[in-house]
Amino acid sequence: MTDVGRPADDLDALRSWQRPLRAQFPIITAHPELAYLDSAATAQKPQAVLDAVHSYLTTSNANAGRGTYPWANATTALVERTRDRVKEFLHDPAPDRSTVHFTGGTTEGLRTVARDWLTTFLTDGDEIVVPFADHQANLAPWLEAQQLLAQRGVHIRVRRLPCQAGSGDYDPVAFAALLGPRTRLVAATHVHHVYGGDMNVHRLREAAGPHVPICLDAAQSIGHLPVSMAELDVDFVVFSGHKALALPGTGAVWSRGLRGPAFRPGGWQGTPNTVGIAALAAALDWLEAAGPDRIERWTVALAARLTDGLRQLARYQVLGCRASLSAASAVQRRRSIVTFRHRDIASHDLGFILYSHGFMVRSDHHCQAGADAGAKDGSVRVSLHVHNTPEEVDALLSTLTSLQ
Ligand code: PMP
Repeated sequence: MTDVGRPADDLDALRSWQRPLRAQFPIITAHPELAYLDSAATAQKPQAVLDAVHSYLTTSNANAGRGTYPWANATTALVERTRDRVKEFLHDPAPDRSTVHFTGGTTEGLRTVARDWLTTFLTDGDEIVVPFADHQANLAPWLEAQQLLAQRGVHIRVRRLPCQAGSGDYDPVAFAALLGPRTRLVAATHVHHVYGGDMNVHRLREAAGPHVPICLDAAQSIGHLPVSMAELDVDFVVFSGHKALALPGTGAVWSRGLRGPAFRPGGWQGTPNTVGIAALAAALDWLEAAGPDRIERWTVALAARLTDGLRQLARYQVLGCRASLSAASAVQRRRSIVTFRHRDIASHDLGFILYSHGFMVRSDHHCQAGADAGAKDGSVRVSLHVHNTPEEVDALLSTLTSLQ
């Protein structure tokens, strides 16, 4: 986790850095009348990613791992290079020990860890701890694994990772109390897709001690902030390419191999999504060049501006970490996601109203398991990326004010 300074200052300091980056998103510059505020659902792509797709398909498209000719060898090399690129991007301190397995996205990645790793070694009475208030993708695969094991006569206990009321943060004290000698895995999320908070996974590691594997859903952090395996002592990192500026249908499972058996995704894998892998490599290069630390500062500052503005508006309720909403806060924990409700206008209606003013937001239950975000009619989520601007945030606030 990087130290984030005063968000308001960051917007001034980073403006000249941000402007040319925004210009690199063709779909954004083609529609100045629209504001794309739904990057947590899927991110827009910079020109470099589009170019990488075109270049791969027009210079070396072939299958990977099967080649006796240059295009096939180039594709094999691309896949291997991208695995190394993922490790580099994660600041993997021991890349010789880790593996990167490409998947179709976070959901598929987590399911692969649950099915092809977890179910291979659990025995009767083992326990896992999973987050019941995070994305469905980080709950369903673990419950499916429990069912699969039960069909084989192995009964495991699934414990609920405890959260603090209000903020939605994990509660490390309550968490520590439910760990025991049979705990075999903790599944957690890096940045919450509804509350927008950094879930402070390092505190889970402190509470869990050195031996329990942790599997991290990094769908909302990769591409938004520096993610360092040298700092986060987790065993799996799972993410989606499409949220990290690459294409849908790609993602990766990074696995460290320190705790528990080695991760060996089962069965015949078939042809990898080589175009998606080319795009992922280009996206990671682009993000690295732009600077994940500056992307973090910029988007945190925009989110703080929006949350501060919303706090002035009596008819709106912001969900998630209320203690550090302010742009003046030195401990800004909210990342690039701000989710709220209007007291009188149903969230779904608010979504349509906002689009009529040019704002693309997400308004529903956000696939949250055990939906609190859902309460009654869902909520409106604004999620920001590097191409967004303070002007877009201010225009949104002024529209929301007019709906008071
Ligand atoms: N986890 C989180 C935190 C997410 O936000 C999402 C996507 N909204 C997912 C998992 C699932 O990602 P995908 O749909 O790419 O599999």
